[in-house]
Amino acid sequence: MPQPVFLAPDHDHGRCTADALAHAEALCAQRAQRLTPIRRRVLEVLLEHHKPLGAYEIIDRAAANGTRPAPITVYRVLDFLREHGLVHRIESRNAFVACVNNHASGDLVVFLICERCGEVGEAASAAVASELKGAARAAGFAPKTPVIEISGICSHCRAA
Ligand SMILES: [Zn+2]
Ligand SMILES: [Zn+2]
Repeated sequence: MPQPVFLAPDHDHGRCTADALAHAEALCAQRAQRLTPIRRRVLEVLLEHHKPLGAYEIIDRAAANGTRPAPITVYRVLDFLREHGLVHRIESRNAFVACVNNHASGDLVVFLICERCGEVGEAASAAVASELKGAARAAGFAPKTPVIEISGICSHCRAA
């Protein structure tokens, strides 16, 4: 059974974090990359919640238990993590969110952004992806980052 897009507020988040870090370790090993301490730290910061964080919030939180990383370092780390599909950028918020879906990079990602609690869910749709690719191809266009962002109210906030 696929996991719900918006996890219940009382879900086992320790498991989300552990799974995502294990996935990141395995992916880096497989691609002959290193999950260096700073890369891991930035990913951990983003994995604290399923909510997007701006670059400076990431720096502040990464600094909480040690030295403050330079912005350029954090931007490079974010580029690395995005390149490997471990982190996504939410353009409309100018913020970043850890990926907990293990989807292949290049897949279309539909971000559902809750305006009330700030949680971000990832919904994947193969049908929408092929429609969009077809439309882009028909226009002679080569799409680079197939991302759709939809704002609204999540299932948990609607139920509350
Ligand atoms: Zn979680
Ligand atoms: Zn919500």
